Amino acid sequence: MFNPERETMPREEIEKLKLTHLRKTLRFLKNSRSKLKEKYKGIEPEDILSLDDLKSLPFTTKDDLRDCYPFNHIAVEPSECARMHMSSGTTGVPVINAMTKNDIFQWGEIMARCLAAAGLTEKDKIQIMPSFGLFNGGFGFHYGAERLGCFIVPAGAGRSLMQLKLIKDLGVTAFGAIASYPARLIEVAKDNGFDFRETKLRVAILGAETWSDEYRHRIESEMGIKTFDIIGLTETGGVGLGIDCEARSGIHVWEDHYILEIIDPETGQPLGIGEEGEMVITTLTREGLPLIRYRTRDISRLISLEKCTCGRTHLRVDRVKGRTDDMLKVKGVNFYPSQVEQILLKYKGLSPYYQLVIETLKGKDDMTIIVEKADNGVTQRELEQLDLELYDFLGFRSKIQIVPEGTIQRVPGKAIRIIDKRKKA
Ligand SMILES: [Zn+2]
Repeated sequence: MFNPERETMPREEIEKLKLTHLRKTLRFLKNSRSKLKEKYKGIEPEDILSLDDLKSLPFTTKDDLRDCYPFNHIAVEPSECARMHMSSGTTGVPVINAMTKNDIFQWGEIMARCLAAAGLTEKDKIQIMPSFGLFNGGFGFHYGAERLGCFIVPAGAGRSLMQLKLIKDLGVTAFGAIASYPARLIEVAKDNGFDFRETKLRVAILGAETWSDEYRHRIESEMGIKTFDIIGLTETGGVGLGIDCEARSGIHVWEDHYILEIIDPETGQPLGIGEEGEMVITTLTREGLPLIRYRTRDISRLISLEKCTCGRTHLRVDRVKGRTDDMLKVKGVNFYPSQVEQILLKYKGLSPYYQLVIETLKGKDDMTIIVEKADNGVTQRELEQLDLELYDFLGFRSKIQIVPEGTIQRVPGKAIRIIDKRKKA
C-alpha cells in the first residue's frame, strides 16, 4: 500500500472524514468565483448534518460544466492554477479542469495508491502509453509513478513497434494504457515475431474505456501479465479515482478524496448495494474544480463497504458496464457494446476488433456485428453457436460479418465501437 493509514481506515472514521470534507467543499465552493455556487443558494454547510443529507443537494451535470466553458466553473482564479486538462470534446463543448498545485499533489497521491494496488513498487519500470496532452491519462500515470518512485518510460501514445522495443530493451515491468490498446500491441507483436514471454512485463493498468472480462482474459493470457482496471474522469481530477486490487473483487474508490453514490438515472434516487445505476461523484479535496454530486454517466453498482481481503477498507464498485451515452437501443432492446464484446471474445477465432453497425432497413432497426477473424477463425458450428448466444442475449437476430484481420481502422485513442446510421429523432 502507498498510504496504509489512509487506505485501511475503519469505516466510522472514513464516514466522519467524508462529512467534514463535504461541508468544507461546500463552504469553499460557495465562497469561490465558480458559477456552480449558484446551485447552492440557501443551502449552508451547517445544514448538512449527516452524509444522508447529501441527497438533498442538487446534481451537477456535464452540461452545467459545458455552460461554464472555459473557466466559469473553476473555483480558483485560473492564473493561480498550475495546469489544465480537457475532456475530448468530440461530442460537444469540451470541459476544462484547471488544477492547482494541491490538486496535482492529490492526483499524484491517488495515482500512486492505484499503482501500488496493482502491485507496483519503486523497483518497477513503467511505460506510460496514454498521450501526454489535453487528455489527462499520460500525466496522471506520470505523477503517480513519480510519487511511488518508479522508473518512468514516458512513451506516450502510438508507435506500437517502438513501444514493444522499449518494453524489451529496457526491461519494462508494467505499462499503463487505454484499455483497447493492448489488442494493437498483441497484433503488432504477432506481425513482428515479438514474444511477450521474453520480456519482464508482468502488469498492465488499463482504463478510459469499458472493457469486458473476456477481453481481460484474452490479453492476460496472450501477454502473460496481470491487468488492473483503473477509473477516473477529467472532471473529477483525472485517472485514479479508483482501481481494482489483487483480490479482484471490485474497484476500490478512494473515499477520503471522493464520495461515491449510485443513483437511478431516471429518478435520481440513491440505490443500495448490488443495484445497478449511474455513478455520482462528489470531490472532497479538489480546489480547481470542486464538484458536488457530479453525474458521471458511468453505469456500475456498489459491491461492498466491508474490508477487502487486500486489507483496504475503501468501498468497492463493480467494473463499469458502460456509459449511458454508449447505451444502444436497437429494436427496443437496451444494451452496451461491452456486453456484445463479452460474447464475441469467448471465441478464440474472433479478435477484439469489432464494430456494431446499426441502420434502418425497410423502416426497422437492423444491426450488423462486424468482427475481425483471429488465428484460424471460427468454424461453421461455432458461428451457429455464436448466433444463438447473441440471440439469447439480445432477443433479436443480428447479422454477423467476419472480416480479415486489419479491416477495421486502427485509430489512436479510444476505439470506435458503434456506427449508428439511424436518423436521430
Ligand atoms: Zn481490495
